[in-house]
Amino acid sequence: MALSLIAFDTDHIKRYVFGTDKLKEIRGASSLLDYLNRIVMDQFAEQYRAHKVYANGGSGLFYLATEHANDFGQQVQQAYYDVTGGGASITFVLLPLPEGITEKNIDKEDITDHLEELQWRLQEKKLHPPASLTLASHPFLRLCDACGIEYASPAVKGKKVVHDPGEEDECYCVSCQLKRSRDSDVKGFIEDIEAGKRVSYHEYLWDQIIPQLRKMNYDIPPLTERPNDFNVFRNFKGAKDYLGLIYADGNNMGRAFADCKKLDQREALAHTIDEALYTAVCTAITRHLKIKDHLKLKEQQTGDLKNPVFPFDILLLGGDDICMVVPASVALDVALTLIETFREETKQKQTLSVGVVLAPIKYPFGLLQETASTALKFAKKVGSDARVKAEKAGNAVDDTRINFFIVTGGSSSDFKSVHDTVYHEQNDTTTQDFYATLRPYAPQDLRTLLSAIRDKDGASLGRTKLHQVREAVLQMNLTTSVSDALAVLRNWREKQRNHVVHNVYEFAGRYQMPRSDPDDPVSGFPRVTFPWFFDGRIKKKVKKQKKDFDIYRTPLLDFTELYDFVSREEGEYQ
Ligand SMILES: [Zn+2]
Repeated sequence: MALSLIAFDTDHIKRYVFGTDKLKEIRGASSLLDYLNRIVMDQFAEQYRAHKVYANGGSGLFYLATEHANDFGQQVQQAYYDVTGGGASITFVLLPLPEGITEKNIDKEDITDHLEELQWRLQEKKLHPPASLTLASHPFLRLCDACGIEYASPAVKGKKVVHDPGEEDECYCVSCQLKRSRDSDVKGFIEDIEAGKRVSYHEYLWDQIIPQLRKMNYDIPPLTERPNDFNVFRNFKGAKDYLGLIYADGNNMGRAFADCKKLDQREALAHTIDEALYTAVCTAITRHLKIKDHLKLKEQQTGDLKNPVFPFDILLLGGDDICMVVPASVALDVALTLIETFREETKQKQTLSVGVVLAPIKYPFGLLQETASTALKFAKKVGSDARVKAEKAGNAVDDTRINFFIVTGGSSSDFKSVHDTVYHEQNDTTTQDFYATLRPYAPQDLRTLLSAIRDKDGASLGRTKLHQVREAVLQMNLTTSVSDALAVLRNWREKQRNHVVHNVYEFAGRYQMPRSDPDDPVSGFPRVTFPWFFDGRIKKKVKKQKKDFDIYRTPLLDFTELYDFVSREEGEYQ
């Protein structure tokens, strides 16, 4: 029996999932894709006797008898079209394998070349998608109130249009109706799972998460629900009306897969990564997102909460992606636990990078998601530069990086442009290079920063004084920046003063370490010109001349920006 490989890849996942701003529609969309990817694809695979290598995160890889391969692909494609009302689509490609490769030996043969060709064909096909079909609907000739792009349509046959209170007049297109109705179905599945039923034919994510959380002793009181919308986040303690969006993504996963020469290795790797993601998410929830720790007392709640609520929501989980919303007060802790657990669970072989954005609850979600991806991209670039540099020197390195960004009125939503224009200044006259931020952080460095903020000596530093420190840092020079920062220092009590200075020295020491020379003990001493520490020299070209620039950095702006958002001991934050 001749065998073929078949590869699937969902088109424009982010456009489909994050195409509208409402929490329900985002999660409904994400859930439909997960259902198609993990459950429907599997069911067709069984029907066509296809062997699954993996199917999650929007892609899939299978092998099966060549005679069935095209039918399998088309059935899956049709299901994507039907289930999402044409909102989402999936591309597939086939590759017949040479005669000698059979079900018996396929796992042990080196089929790297074939897998590469398959991948290449898939990319090629995605670049040239066939003209898309449009759904035959009977439009009201009025635009959909959710996406504003498609025409609104009467109720999809056999489904009720899901309306929110106060929005009974809204009309939706077929695709948005199906997203909303999926979200309401998932609500029912969650009730079933909480009641001890398994719903694995309908729903994957919560069917995994809830039992796993229970195993970790996470308390789920009866009738616990997901947040109904982003406004529900106002009912969680700390960080007044801000929420945190966490966006994590695997580092260098393409290469990890390419390094697997054999199919069973790929299967094992995909399995390990998927399990590690779930374990990481459940560990972070158990540690930092207990319901009783976050939910405000009844009399302080806004809106009409009838039941307990999870203080988080999962918007995407699979492949090598995690997207979660959490209270701003613990967003960085959740991110740290995610990346550290993931690395542990993959035996230090795989890593994630994360972008965390803290933003007002009413901030448009589409923009929030874009901002998070720019923060993540910046983190990944720095991590990958560190990896390349270490590999050249023959060293192992942890390329995990965490970036964060706090949205305030009027700030740009692109992290790199903020970094380059606000946080960095190169002075060609004095040949000095100033960085007002240490972002993105390696995990250990972020822990140091967070514990400095939470330390009792760091309590009550005062908003005005912290603001003055920030202003001093942003002058980015060794004159007024220094005198203004020292003036603030003098206004603090001795313990507070020592605490803040110590924090700068601690980072200075860490950055100095790689440059210290064992034969010259003095070289190990960090040089601090408060609020700055010296971080070596770099050659740069200025007007066609090479010059040595002194690099100065400080953790203090990051410290002041996070200060109000990071939760302290119970009762201290509010
Ligand atoms: Zn729509």
